[in-house]
Amino acid sequence: MLLSVDSLQVRYGKAPAIHELSLCVSAGEIVCLVGPNGAGKSTCMLAIAGVVEPAHGDIQFEGRSIRGLPPETIARAGISLVPEGRRIFGRLTVRENLVVASGAQGGVGQAKAQFDRVLALFPVLQERYNGYAGQLSGGEQQQLAIARALICKPKLLLVDEPSLGLAPLFADRVFQTLRSLREDGTTLLVVEQSARRALALADRTYLLRSGRLILDGPSNVLAADPEFEHAYFGGA
Ligand code: ATP
Repeated sequence: MLLSVDSLQVRYGKAPAIHELSLCVSAGEIVCLVGPNGAGKSTCMLAIAGVVEPAHGDIQFEGRSIRGLPPETIARAGISLVPEGRRIFGRLTVRENLVVASGAQGGVGQAKAQFDRVLALFPVLQERYNGYAGQLSGGEQQQLAIARALICKPKLLLVDEPSLGLAPLFADRVFQTLRSLREDGTTLLVVEQSARRALALADRTYLLRSGRLILDGPSNVLAADPEFEHAYFGGA
């Protein structure tokens, strides 16, 4: 097991955002978290990345607890987060965005090899390498946000709502990119609001609602389960 979240509880002040959530991700899988607004999906990603501290429970990565470690230590251990809303630097070039993320100039040795590998995955970024990131389309900016997270060669990529605000065609392209990353050996945990897209992408899917785990299973099983839609919108 690459990632194992056990009885996770997160509170903002006194308000619980996640209650006793357990989930796991094996190496090589794509796993999705789905659920309506406020379900706790982003909070779960932020807790795994060390940005918010759990009130209770444990998070293990490669068999070791990472709970309470600072985000930079968790990143060094091999977990990268593509946050909701992309957060790229619009006034920097594509190249500069990648350099900032890598902490290296991208000119020598291993760093150069990783830049080349990432750019090969995103030809559009190669084309726009010296252009301002703020001038990329929404879909291209999302690709840059993913590329930036990949520059440190993570073992586990956390991607929060990659299709948010994108036209369907661009969202499709971003999802195609996520599939190709898995083929390239990266394990993915992806938050997605659209159940249809999540089920089409992931090997397994967890459905959250109001901070609780409602259903989980192989995506093809959930896609055929009439309870799934009902559970997504409430009532189950
Ligand atoms: P969305 O799709 O809207 O991003 P989500 O499933 O990612 O929803 P979260 O953003 O994790 O859900 O929010 C879970 C709960 O925690 C919600 O009730 C939300 O209002 C609350 N919450 C999230 N961030 C904060 C914060 N910084 N301070 C206080 N409450 C927060």
